[in-house]
Amino acid sequence: VDLYDVIIVGAGPAGAVAALRLAARGARVLLLEKQALGRDKPCGGGLTPRAWSDLEVDIADVVLSRTDSGALRHGRRHEARVPLGDRAVWMVRRRDFDQRLAAAAGHAGADVHEREPARAVDATRSGVVVRTPVAAYRGQVALIATGAEAPLRAALGYARVHPRMAVAVEMEGRASADGLDPREFIFDFDIPGGYAWAFPKGEWWNVGVLSASAETAPQLRRLLAGFVVALGIRFQAPADPVRATGRRIPLHAGRCSLAVGRTALIGDAAALADPLFGEGIAQALMSGRLAAVAAESVLSGRRQDLGEYPRLLQRTIGPHLRRMRWLARAVYAQPALAVRALSFGPPQAVARHLSTEPFAGQLDTVARRAALAASRRHA
Ligand SMILES: Cc1cc2nc3c(=O)[nH]c(=O)nc-3n(C[C@H](O)[C@H](O)[C@H](O)COP(=O)(O)OP(=O)(O)OC[C@H]3O[C@@H](n4cnc5c(N)ncnc54)[C@H](O)[C@@H]3O)c2cc1C
Repeated sequence: VDLYDVIIVGAGPAGAVAALRLAARGARVLLLEKQALGRDKPCGGGLTPRAWSDLEVDIADVVLSRTDSGALRHGRRHEARVPLGDRAVWMVRRRDFDQRLAAAAGHAGADVHEREPARAVDATRSGVVVRTPVAAYRGQVALIATGAEAPLRAALGYARVHPRMAVAVEMEGRASADGLDPREFIFDFDIPGGYAWAFPKGEWWNVGVLSASAETAPQLRRLLAGFVVALGIRFQAPADPVRATGRRIPLHAGRCSLAVGRTALIGDAAALADPLFGEGIAQALMSGRLAAVAAESVLSGRRQDLGEYPRLLQRTIGPHLRRMRWLARAVYAQPALAVRALSFGPPQAVARHLSTEPFAGQLDTVARRAALAASRRHA
């Protein structure tokens, strides 16, 4: 049995950033990924400032464009522009972005095992045992970062983590789009319970449709095809809406248990995507960092379990997710009205703020306070 301090299952942004932070601080970290590194992930690949600011890794060379304006539409009837200034949305391809983060975790000293799925995670009295087809690994702490599809969760006693799912289909490829501004992304809210997006990425475009309405889900590919034609985006073969890849996005639907003993859920496994846009990368990164902070408290003996992590998460991401839930209800009840309202200054300022606001509290402050509180308890 190999011995680690922290075992992290899943090398998406949540798992990779947690591994990176812990390994950089000297912990013995195992990062398990069931696919090959460099895998693609069906995703728009849009990074808001919440995701790119304070990122531990330089990604400048994998950013394909920076969009400093959003065109919000409702079909052909209404359109509003929201300028973002220096709070731009950065566009990446997920395979490049995720590989960069996982590689950084490796450079920091984490053991990164690709093509090695965790089959079971068992909590023991003193820690965890993670079993793969290759070996059994013993650790003090396990972080579950397995994304939207996560059978491991239930076995650990996390029952009701994913009460609300959106479904999204997406295609990405070389395309031409005469008449569209390559520095502007487009959101069209003329989709029941969701929206369509078009993200410019240099010579590439990423276009997709997302909905949280069960009746709309079977029609997403048809809606995607219509959206692509309406925008005049011409994809080069083989990109084709009929073959667009679909995935579920676990939308945040309120608080639920995210840490049991010495295991915790991070990223999509914890259902942290916001219910308005389905943005999940920023929360994946932040939850990975906060779980790393809580894991350090256990490793240093200041705490016995990861119970600190959900509290840190609530304080940091909670306010943003609550606002986005409220806004999702308002926007999806009256999408045409919402887009029309954005032609006016004050609603536009609110929209700009909500789509680019940072999470509450600087991470370093949060980490410092947590360490201080834990050491007081310990003393
Ligand atoms: C179509 C679509 C578009 C989206 N667009 C955006 C966007 O533009 N911006 C944004 O911020 N968010 C977007 N999201 C949401 C975003 O993709 C997720 O929130 C984000 O990927 C979550 O990161 P994660 O690290 O939690 O999980 P993931 O990125 O899903 O990574 C989980 C990893 O765990 C691995 N894994 C799973 N099970 C095991 C196992 N048993 N053993 C080992 N490894 C395992 C998987 O192979 C995977 O690599 C979109 C989602 C979809 C579906």
